[in-house]
Amino acid sequence: MIKGSTELVAIVGSPIAQVKSPENFNTWFSNNGRNLAMLPIDLHPTALDAFLGSLRGWRNLRGCVVTVPYKQAFAACLDGLSERAAALASVNVVRRESDGRLVGDNVDGAGFLGAARKHGFHPAGKRALVIGCGGVGSAIAYALGEAGAAQVTLSDPDAARAGALGELLGKAFPALAIAIEFAALEGFDLLVNASPVGMGGTGELPLPAAMLATLQPPTHVADVVTSPEITPLLQRARQHGCSIQTGPEMAFAQLGHLGAFMGVTPLEI
Ligand code: NAD
Repeated sequence: MIKGSTELVAIVGSPIAQVKSPENFNTWFSNNGRNLAMLPIDLHPTALDAFLGSLRGWRNLRGCVVTVPYKQAFAACLDGLSERAAALASVNVVRRESDGRLVGDNVDGAGFLGAARKHGFHPAGKRALVIGCGGVGSAIAYALGEAGAAQVTLSDPDAARAGALGELLGKAFPALAIAIEFAALEGFDLLVNASPVGMGGTGELPLPAAMLATLQPPTHVADVVTSPEITPLLQRARQHGCSIQTGPEMAFAQLGHLGAFMGVTPLEI
């Protein structure tokens, strides 16, 4: 129950009704006897500046999770950013310091790799294909670079996005080999769909069927799409004998990273 003494965190986006974080965090707070609660906030874009001002002065609010469409807009307005959030120009979590300063981080990539490690995928020295170079694909590719991957291949129909991400990765990780072309899927240790393709039961695949026919069992195949849980790509990968990782696994693995940054949960929950 929310009391006068309850400290708050929030999740802000628009729309917001579909997000799972409030039930996940509030269940954890309740099961662990914490006097904390998460509020969902559906923010109109014209209210963004006023909202950030309110956050700075909101003394019983520890922080907020940031989701679509505000990850980039928040990053441009905060008082401090982690190195990775600054490089990606995108945040998905904000902490309110005791003096009211707002600092941000982006834990999309950390959550993804946390879920991948549970499948025995360890990125150091590995070769990865990242399909989709938007917000989430960039965060995953950056996390792979931070974790010492040997090679990352980038694929996006928007060539400028793939090019910009390649440039960012090249500057941040000089030892990382970066490619934007591939003829087959053999040889990749990781294939991740970080595009929305397959979302909402459309049945679409993010790569042509002929390309997917070259999948081999050693490749760990992951999807960031949360619904359906088993996307057409993951179905195909399973048929080829690959280990698979779902979007909900990534979302769940992020909870501890989000909570720990706001100071309301341990890293492992
Ligand atoms: P975005 O719009 O920033 O980027 C999507 C990118 O995919 C774009 O660059 C687009 O050009 C590219 N794309 C579209 N079709 C493609 C194709 N056929 N092949 C390759 N690239 C293609 O979106 P985002 O914020 O990066 O979100 C991507 C997905 O991640 C969404 O479905 C979102 O729901 C999901 N997501 C999952 C989690 C999680 O925890 N599982 C967290 C955040 C977002």
